[in-house]
Amino acid sequence: MKKIAILTSGGDAPGMNSCIRAVVRAATSENLEIFGIRRGYEGLINGDLIHMDRRSVANIIHLGGTILGTARSAEFRTKEGRTLAIKVLRQYGIDGLVLIGGDGTFRGGTQLALECGVAIIGVPGTIDNDVYGTDFTIGFDTAINTALESIDRIRDTALSHDRLFFVEVMGRHTGYIALESGLAGGAEEVLIPEIPTSIDELCDRLLNSFGAGKRSAIVVVAEGEQAGDSFRIAREVKEKCGYESRVCILGHVQRGGSPTARDRVLASKLGAATVSGLLNGKSGCMVGEMCGEIAYTPLEDTWNKKKELNHSLRELALLLAG
Ligand code: ATP
Repeated sequence: MKKIAILTSGGDAPGMNSCIRAVVRAATSENLEIFGIRRGYEGLINGDLIHMDRRSVANIIHLGGTILGTARSAEFRTKEGRTLAIKVLRQYGIDGLVLIGGDGTFRGGTQLALECGVAIIGVPGTIDNDVYGTDFTIGFDTAINTALESIDRIRDTALSHDRLFFVEVMGRHTGYIALESGLAGGAEEVLIPEIPTSIDELCDRLLNSFGAGKRSAIVVVAEGEQAGDSFRIAREVKEKCGYESRVCILGHVQRGGSPTARDRVLASKLGAATVSGLLNGKSGCMVGEMCGEIAYTPLEDTWNKKKELNHSLRELALLLAG
């Protein structure tokens, strides 16, 4: 192993830069040459590579987003696109590739690993925390803290106006962000795709809460298939039990910002582990952390297997909200 390359792909997540720094510095400590690929798979297809060294990752540990840029590449989903990408890897003599991204990035990585001889290691970098093979993804901790700060602010106005609020957080197919920010924010209800809740059930809970003397309430909603579904829920609650409400969609603010200490520590550990993994012959896998230990999981499992959500957290949120 002499030359490695690194890219960030899919949605950006706070902590990606901390991870890039860790990979670059761990690699140069082992006298490996390292290239950064701009804009994910799109940049790989187009040969948009830059040489990196220890100085090129100075002062980025605290920055949100990704200095390499990211993209969602339709071309990489095609055999022709990946053939171009493989050509670039060969042209630069890359023998190890580090992918920082989410489950989509690893689907693409699995495909690429089958088609080229380069050793590939993934690092889970997504705010959604929906990747099998790691307890937490890089970016999740920052995202829930950002969501929590907003929920706390909304609580002030909900209390002042005796109001019901629906706060919609990110997490297209998963409720991790809603669950943890909802529990931490003392939400009255947390609506997540993994546990379908009917409008009737929601109204019953709200009626109980308001009947017991509450004058305001916060319902945290995972965005579901498309952002904005909270408006429908709020409308149906109004029709069913008459409660007026306000809707706040947090959206992309949850993606940005300086990574928390937890995300920086996780990113540093996983970034360094990609380099030791590559040097120890690991390939076609993702490096994660499970129960405090570094764990390598086959890339295919990261998107083929479902990471189980901790349902008891929602029960706890509801129990404590009463
Ligand atoms: P996030 O969870 O933050 O959205 P992600 O990595 O899941 O991140 P995606 O947009 O789903 O983000 O995937 C990133 C890129 O991976 C896609 O734009 C595409 O180029 C590539 N990709 C996704 N699925 C496949 C696939 N089945 N085959 C080849 N490439 C894929």
